Amino acid sequence: MTAKATYSIIIPMYNEEAVIQETYRRLKHVMSRTGESYELIFINDGSRDRCAQIIKEYSFWDETVKLIDFSRNFGHQIAITAGMDYAEGDAVVIIDADLQDPPELILSMIEKWREGYEVVCAKRVKRSGETRFKKWTAAAFYRVLRASAEIDIPLDTGDFRLMDRRVCDELKRLPENNRFVRGLVSWVGFRQTAIEYERDERLAGETKYPLKRMIKLSLDGLTSFSYKPLKLAGYAGMLLSGAGFLYLLYVLYMALFTTSTHQGWPSLIAIMLIFNGFILLMLGILGEYVGRIYDETKGRPLYIVRECHGMKRKDMLVKR
Ligand code: UDP
Ligand code: MG
Repeated sequence: MTAKATYSIIIPMYNEEAVIQETYRRLKHVMSRTGESYELIFINDGSRDRCAQIIKEYSFWDETVKLIDFSRNFGHQIAITAGMDYAEGDAVVIIDADLQDPPELILSMIEKWREGYEVVCAKRVKRSGETRFKKWTAAAFYRVLRASAEIDIPLDTGDFRLMDRRVCDELKRLPENNRFVRGLVSWVGFRQTAIEYERDERLAGETKYPLKRMIKLSLDGLTSFSYKPLKLAGYAGMLLSGAGFLYLLYVLYMALFTTSTHQGWPSLIAIMLIFNGFILLMLGILGEYVGRIYDETKGRPLYIVRECHGMKRKDMLVKR
């Protein structure tokens, strides 16, 4: 590899054997149209299929191909982070391996970047081939996040985006473990813009984001950018004790000035269930925050690399 590349494309992959050759082909085709230098950084996030071997072979004869091979599955957001740590380009693009994000859009992103924007996001105006449940929960999540976060996180925007070198360098300074990269990108600021696109179906294979991972990602997003869930306890407590006080007045009035007595215990149980449920919910929310604080204090590295291929320096094993 000679001079530093102009564009770095980051492609996280987890069991993407079925699509990775086509992804490589499409990316090569798009990037050769720019007429500038580029590098394709594939991150193998502990796949159990052959996708890493395929990329490794490519890296032997295609010097634009680089592979970071994780020692196990560390998750999508961490894989993206590793890609940014290793990227050398003046502009860095994150794209999914499954071709749900059309590589051709990179050219429009580059145009915007040339106009002077430092972050170009891709906003999904339509998603095809995903279940109604996924679309609905994703839409709801972005709205809740926007309503509660202290920073401006764009709606319906995934990690498919272009970032200037400066943005990437700032992101590398953020050490947090539970990463929600799209929120962090908003947090660092700079001139940001969005272009719209229709999200395609996955080319092959199945989603690597089952419900459990979606919940984890949404909680990372919410807890990293908002204290509002914690404040909920305070507000609800005020409301409930206010209501309790009014009820007490009512009970006293009934006892002192009327003859009607109350049976009352079904309502007691109902109230107990509601209150206990609420307390458990608040404990759960506290737990989400405490757990994350614990993660951060351990100070473990974000990821461990087994081996790199196509890199200039072979000593770039564990960074950060
Ligand atoms: N991915 C990853 N590690 C994981 C899960 C996913 O690197 O633990 C990658 C995956 O290979 C893909 C991208 O992250 O390139 C997005 O995942 P996916 O397409 O399954 O998510 P969806 O588009 O269904 O939300
Ligand atoms: Mg996908």
